[in-house]
Amino acid sequence: MRKIFFDHISTTPVDERVLEAMLPYFREYYGNPSSHIHEQGQYALRAVDGAREKVAGLIGATPDEVIFTSGATESNNLAIKGVASAYAHRGKHIVVSEIEHFSVLNALMPLMNRGFEVTYVRVDETGLVDPDEVRRAIRDDTILVSVMHANAEIGTIEPVEEIGKLTRERGVLFHCDAAATGGKIPIDVNRMNVDLLTLSAHNMYGPKGVGALYVRDGVRVDPLLDGGFQEKGLRAGTENVPGIVGFGKAAEIAIDEMDADAERLRHLGKALWDGLARRVEHIHFTGHPEKRLPGHVSFWVEFAEGESLLIFLNLNGVMAASGSACSSNLKAKDEEELVASHVLKAIGVPSDICTGSITFSLGKWNTREEVDYVIDIMPGIVKRLWDISPAYADYIRQQSGGQKS
Ligand code: PMP
Repeated sequence: MRKIFFDHISTTPVDERVLEAMLPYFREYYGNPSSHIHEQGQYALRAVDGAREKVAGLIGATPDEVIFTSGATESNNLAIKGVASAYAHRGKHIVVSEIEHFSVLNALMPLMNRGFEVTYVRVDETGLVDPDEVRRAIRDDTILVSVMHANAEIGTIEPVEEIGKLTRERGVLFHCDAAATGGKIPIDVNRMNVDLLTLSAHNMYGPKGVGALYVRDGVRVDPLLDGGFQEKGLRAGTENVPGIVGFGKAAEIAIDEMDADAERLRHLGKALWDGLARRVEHIHFTGHPEKRLPGHVSFWVEFAEGESLLIFLNLNGVMAASGSACSSNLKAKDEEELVASHVLKAIGVPSDICTGSITFSLGKWNTREEVDYVIDIMPGIVKRLWDISPAYADYIRQQSGGQKS
């Protein structure tokens, strides 16, 4: 059976060129960058610095503003907790959007136990943050605003440039979680006026277990880990040299290929959206129709449970995500959460008729033929679920003027 991977928002396959770049750093160049008195250490140090230049180049930063981490979760924790600790003397108020990833929302919990206050800015029904709401939420004791670049679950791209402008005016630091957009759409830390920005390698055809936090020159961040003085003292521990080299290569490739890939993905995403809209009844698309990640199509279908749709898709060789991939474990633990994720709730999806959303996220190697295949199988899958749905049976009975059972 053919296999179609439409779950690039949870992770991406490693580009062959990235893997090739990494392999020598497992085999021949195994040195520790901190031990650079000898040749092996010097190779490693040079490789890490080379990768730092490339990652900086991807976002318009200078290399010494890039701190390598273990991934977006760590970068978000470092940004939120590190800034909170370093600026607590100035104020203890933080503003975030209500649709941030759990690595932002949950990083705030221990801070609240230590007396910090958090304002959650609402989003509209397309998932957009209104910069004026952010403006209104900022107080004299606000030290940080954190708004993501794009939401993985619904694909909406936030007006970060405008938010950056107003945080700059108010003298408040601005962190942006760009895990879902890094290497996929252009990022310029200066145009966006961000002070801290999170990146993840495995979301841009690089390896898992490596990410970065951009920290604007002059911004203070206290480290999370106690240990050595790697990464300007912000991230103790021997660097993941092959991972960082892979991240650098992924950034280099993205700089060259991102625009063309994004254009192709925009077309494929539109074809998928239009095809599903034409062929699947009772479908509701989520997120903003235009301001969205290229190749990202998210929706829910009345009377069709999200998890069941995914299982049937998988039986047909199609791999997709239900809402945010990162919250599906939580869903399994908590039946309540099966109904709607915090993101779906925030955009006002009615939890009585929506039982889970689907996110199709396409990547650079998906084809038009795959899109057409998915459009073709979806109506049949939905019908099978409707056939066993008591709610759908009730709906049909009501439509035909019959009595509800
Ligand atoms: N932020 C966003 C916006 C995400 O989509 C994700 C998940 N890919 C993360 C943070 C966390 O990334 P990771 O699990 O790779 O640390």
